[in-house]
Amino acid sequence: MCVLGDFMNYLNSSGLTTHPCEVVYIPDAPSVEAVAEGDAVDDERNNGVGFAMYVPQSMTIYVAGNMQPYIESGEIEQEDADNVILESLAHEYVHHVQHMDNRLFLFNKEEVEREAEEKAILLLNDYLANRGEGFGCWRGACETGTKKGI
Ligand SMILES: [Zn+2]
Repeated sequence: MCVLGDFMNYLNSSGLTTHPCEVVYIPDAPSVEAVAEGDAVDDERNNGVGFAMYVPQSMTIYVAGNMQPYIESGEIEQEDADNVILESLAHEYVHHVQHMDNRLFLFNKEEVEREAEEKAILLLNDYLANRGEGFGCWRGACETGTKKGI
């Protein structure tokens, strides 16, 4: 998915932190649990399946790209697969920003996760809108204004 690198560049230039984050894309993996374990902040949405994972020590996000099992089981619509991956990347990027702000491990987990979920949707919608390719509003966030709250 070539758009992943473009979105990573967008996130790194968003001004949320001056410290760039790396992304490692694993196209064949259905989840990051299959790839990495240990000191990482995983993504607990989607029935416990993590599509992306942030490793604070190396400031790297791992992203799994094989959505086929979830499309076949009906968990994810085919047309949503790309955005689910991008949203997962944005979610982990917010954890990176939290880490750079020394908030990732100090704030309570619920608060950290809520912020990541909310801001990921805003960041993705902002990115999609700026690409000007007629993408719809991901998870309806455009209705409330995309720039607000990022
Ligand atoms: Zn998270």
